[in-house]
Amino acid sequence: MRTITIVGAGQAGLQLGIGLLQHGYRVNLISNRTPEQIAAGRVLSSQSMYDMALGFERELGLALWDDECPPTHGVHMRVGNGDGLLVDWRARMKAPGQSVDQRIKMPRWMNEFERQGGNLVIEEAGLEELERYAEQSDLVIVASGKGEIGKLFERDAERSQFDRPMRTISLTYVHGMLPRSDYSALNISINPGIGEYVNFPCITHSGPGDIINLECIEGGPMDRWGEVSTPAEHLALAVELIEEFFPWEAPRCRNLRLTDELGTLVGRLTPTVRKPIGVLPSGRTVLGMADVLVLNDPITGQGSNNASKCANVYMKAILAQGADAFDDTFKQATFERYWDYAQWVTRFTNTHLLPPPDSALRVFAACAENPRIAATVANAFDDPKSLTPWYYDLDEAERFIASFALAKEA
Ligand SMILES: Cc1cc2nc3c(=O)[nH]c(=O)nc-3n(C[C@H](O)[C@H](O)[C@H](O)COP(=O)(O)OP(=O)(O)OC[C@H]3O[C@@H](n4cnc5c(N)ncnc54)[C@H](O)[C@@H]3O)c2cc1C
Repeated sequence: MRTITIVGAGQAGLQLGIGLLQHGYRVNLISNRTPEQIAAGRVLSSQSMYDMALGFERELGLALWDDECPPTHGVHMRVGNGDGLLVDWRARMKAPGQSVDQRIKMPRWMNEFERQGGNLVIEEAGLEELERYAEQSDLVIVASGKGEIGKLFERDAERSQFDRPMRTISLTYVHGMLPRSDYSALNISINPGIGEYVNFPCITHSGPGDIINLECIEGGPMDRWGEVSTPAEHLALAVELIEEFFPWEAPRCRNLRLTDELGTLVGRLTPTVRKPIGVLPSGRTVLGMADVLVLNDPITGQGSNNASKCANVYMKAILAQGADAFDDTFKQATFERYWDYAQWVTRFTNTHLLPPPDSALRVFAACAENPRIAATVANAFDDPKSLTPWYYDLDEAERFIASFALAKEA
């Protein structure tokens, strides 16, 4: 029986680990936190996930919250400021998305991993530990998210567009938000040059709630999180910023309360792509995975989706390798297969961190006119590759929009 060791019990590591167990591999999963510590900890993400990524979970019997998690049925995008809206379109997605608080999901999956025969080890993996795992395993995969050990993998300058954080990111988990009057949505508001407000429903410890994601342009008027020192102040600032910069959303936010004292987060990250092979001091090599290698800003809500898709690609590659060695050729090729998809997610996300190109503005205007174009863009959150090339090129955008008119005439 082949032994795979995975560092990191997040979306990627757990999904891959459980998948491999189901195919008869011996799996060690290394976590620097116990299930109880994760459950009792701070929120880490808003983790909105869409159909394809949820489908990979379902294939492994891991979609355990389909009945209790409030669905996200559509996408509603508005661009504007205090003077009014320049863009306003909405559409239902072909299948609902969902957001299960990782403080619920990961502990439950860790228990599931052990129940299915996995070996869960609680320790902080450093270089010394990686050497030990590499000696004892056929393959070591590092799925440690934003953890320090990920720096073992060299930054890929060609594939990394930014070298600094583009947003200060604030999360607020709340109860008491007024529901939308139509359908639940990935509710995106953009105030150009200032920042973004993204909201959608979730399930957390205290039941169904809503997540407020504020993406604040560095040094801009929303980037005021240094003023905050208590959870109550955090909530008050979130509401104040919504009232000032996204006033069309303010009526839904008049009676908010935090889901819990750890339901807030403020952070910054530098979107980074890294090379997939990490070389240990002994010369042995390990393979990176998901956020370790392709870290995107959460502005388009793609990281957990990416992690699920990466787990699926890696599992298939490991199975296809059979009894052959997991050498560096395998490691590089496995990542490239994931990058074939992930590069489009990175392009989509990085595009939203900069002023929108004319092509995207043209597409948004068409979305407001044509529900089928709007549905196409809404469904692209599930598969950002489908936006290429028309989202990024004005001529292609015109051709894409015209194709809908032609389809109507035909
Ligand atoms: C504010 C915010 C909002 C987000 N919103 C969304 C969203 O709406 N939709 C979406 O799809 N994505 C979102 N994301 C991104 C998403 O959360 C991540 O992309 C996803 O969790 C990555 O999964 P992962 O398994 O690669 O890493 P992680 O989920 O980070 O898991 C890594 C695990 O490894 C552990 N670890 C780290 N170092 C070590 C070590 N040395 N030894 C042992 N264990 C270690 C960590 O404790 C952690 O449990 C958001 C991210 C942020 C920051």
